[in-house]
Amino acid sequence: MLQSVAVGSKSLADYTHISGRALIEEVRELARPLQGLRVLHVSATAFGGGVSEILYTQVPLMRDLGLDCDWQVIYGREEFFHATKLLHNALQGAPHDLTEDEWRCWRLYNEMNGRELAGGWDVCVVHDPQPAALYRLVPDKARGWVWRCHIDLSTPNAATIEHLLPYIREYPHSIFHLRDYVPNGMDGKVHAVPPAIDPLAPKNMALAPADAAYVCEQFGIDVERPLMCQVSRFDPWKDPLGVIDAYRIVKEEIPEVQLALVGSMASDDPEGWDFFTETIAHADGDQDIHILNNFNNVGAIEVNAFQSHANLLIQKSTREGFGLTVSEGIWKGRPFIGGKVGGIPLQVQDGETGYLVSSVQECAQRSLAILGDPELGRVLGRKGKEYVRAHFLAPRYLRDYLRIFTELQSAT
Ligand code: UDP
Repeated sequence: MLQSVAVGSKSLADYTHISGRALIEEVRELARPLQGLRVLHVSATAFGGGVSEILYTQVPLMRDLGLDCDWQVIYGREEFFHATKLLHNALQGAPHDLTEDEWRCWRLYNEMNGRELAGGWDVCVVHDPQPAALYRLVPDKARGWVWRCHIDLSTPNAATIEHLLPYIREYPHSIFHLRDYVPNGMDGKVHAVPPAIDPLAPKNMALAPADAAYVCEQFGIDVERPLMCQVSRFDPWKDPLGVIDAYRIVKEEIPEVQLALVGSMASDDPEGWDFFTETIAHADGDQDIHILNNFNNVGAIEVNAFQSHANLLIQKSTREGFGLTVSEGIWKGRPFIGGKVGGIPLQVQDGETGYLVSSVQECAQRSLAILGDPELGRVLGRKGKEYVRAHFLAPRYLRDYLRIFTELQSAT
């Protein structure tokens, strides 16, 4: 059997004061005819990365609304996650497709998980490419199927997408963050729905400035000096090396600046450790660069503290599905510099709520502008927070899911 994830409980009512009564009521209306709907989310991991982050909020909220919702994680060994990491990279444009053996491994684990998957679901939402073959392999296990893609599919490796397409094409519904990500040849109904953050999760809840500073201090940050920060997995697409290069340019003009690279390790990302080591080497012993990960006790509250305390937040990705860290950071009211890729321009309005950049130089220049003018940082941050409130909080995402479930129900 696939392993169920324990998600705890959440109450939609608690979000009323943040997202407004109208949206909360709309969500409740949509949920009324869906009482008891048996919904299963299937993903590759319950730990690390954006997908698990989202499901820890969406699943308990769906339950709170009366849906019979579960989240299960597929079984996989290192060989499988090695193949799926290559798959992820190739789908985001890396030059190498999987070998025949790697594709066989991917399919084999899908077959194994398909056999073990319990049946009788009204809706099965399959997240990302790791378990994407399930619909093709065991379509009878659920009445309705959705493929939820969290990655940037705008310029995939041609051979890789061609190989994957027969497995994803026929899903009756698929969801992408952006229209740009939808590959040619999808047969079912395609939705463009960005995800959202949970403003009440420990990672995003309001933290007093003194508490945030106190937490950062415990990780060796001098809270009297300026801090730049990027929170993300250690992955080349997130470009932590480029962030270090930008910081070095900033440091020439503002010698007291510090940099924190806060990155979690995901259990389905075996390459993470190699790149972590590479990042440390790139920092070259600079005492003002703090490279931390979840194995150093950096959990949700600590991420919150770093995002709340930093003078400037960065997500200098060169490829990005959505980039939850962007809305998370902006929600803390901080000025944000993001790479002009993937879902980041959706969240950062260039010049209004932060800046979009395409190079180390640009990133450094914008950083200098913000660090040199605290009032500018405050204005960008304030506007950004309202933008995130209007577009990227969990109740809106819940509404969009329920709309899709409603469509599925009326079709079956
Ligand atoms: N994250 C975390 N600790 C870290 C680094 C990242 O909890 O040290 C979280 C981050 O806050 C965000 C998620 O992991 O919620 C990453 O999601 P995102 O969409 O930004 O990127 P992904 O990892 O899915 O590519």
